[in-house]
Amino acid sequence: MIAGYEARDFTAPDAQGKVAALYIRATSETGELVVIKAAQFVLAAGTQESTRILLRNIKFLFGLGFTPPALGRYYQGHLSGKIASVRFKGNPKKRIMDSCAIPMAAISGDRFQFTAPFLAAKNLLNTAIWLDNPLYYNPRHRSGAMSFMYLAMLVPILGKKLAPPAIAYSITSGKKTSIGSHLANILRGLPGSLLTLLPYFTGDTASNEKLPGVFLYSPQNHYALHFHAEQVPDTATGWNWPPTAKRFKSVTG
Ligand SMILES: Cc1cc2nc3c(=O)[nH]c(=O)nc-3n(C[C@H](O)[C@H](O)[C@H](O)COP(=O)(O)OP(=O)(O)OC[C@H]3O[C@@H](n4cnc5c(N)ncnc54)[C@H](O)[C@@H]3O)c2cc1C
Repeated sequence: MIAGYEARDFTAPDAQGKVAALYIRATSETGELVVIKAAQFVLAAGTQESTRILLRNIKFLFGLGFTPPALGRYYQGHLSGKIASVRFKGNPKKRIMDSCAIPMAAISGDRFQFTAPFLAAKNLLNTAIWLDNPLYYNPRHRSGAMSFMYLAMLVPILGKKLAPPAIAYSITSGKKTSIGSHLANILRGLPGSLLTLLPYFTGDTASNEKLPGVFLYSPQNHYALHFHAEQVPDTATGWNWPPTAKRFKSVTG
């Protein structure tokens, strides 16, 4: 393995379409270029970078006589998020979980999803919906453990040690709010407020689950509804970036 180099340009294919060499560039300040010769190359630089390399080396495709229309288009991120709140009636402890904290994986059986035959019959895209923790930053959830997690993520050095920035942000939503109410939640829920999440912070869970894969019991019987949806490329909008104001409006409705 050669580390510290970036695959850049392939030499042009010969009459048989064979590529003989690849230039790699040092990622250090020297930017040194090195030629790699090989009988075969496998391009495995991930979705975006493989595409970027192909676009940079468009000469690969001359043999085809055309550029594949999907090259560089239709990249799909996850279409996922909390779309609604749900509140159940009755005793919250008789809901789906008895323990205070269980990993998301353990409740994967509680995902709501249409069956494959139903999706095919109705020509629908696949979407999964499941219960999730309500928004951490809003102390109305009255969960001491959630408030503890929220406040922990706000503490400058501690927050960074406990979780990577993206996960910390998913918990705080970038807000610093209602500290007093969060402290009240923690005090009301002691000792569970502190003990519930301790195994996750110390990496001490039986199956080594990590944050944020934690699903917390809501004493308010109040949960968020999380969705994860399949999507299809929209060939109608074509390749026009950046989108015009009009086009953008039509996409966002
Ligand atoms: C936030 C996130 C969450 C995800 N969650 C899931 C999940 O839950 N389940 C799932 O199945 N998939 C998930 N995926 C997708 C999954 O990570 C990818 O499908 C998978 O990693 C692709 O593997 P790969 O080997 O093709 O590319 P990569 O894992 O992207 O590896 C490509 C490698 O090539 C290197 N590289 C790039 N360009 C060059 C270059 N020019 N020269 C030299 N080296 C280069 C990169 O540094 C990298 O090491 C997730 C992706 C992201 C970003």
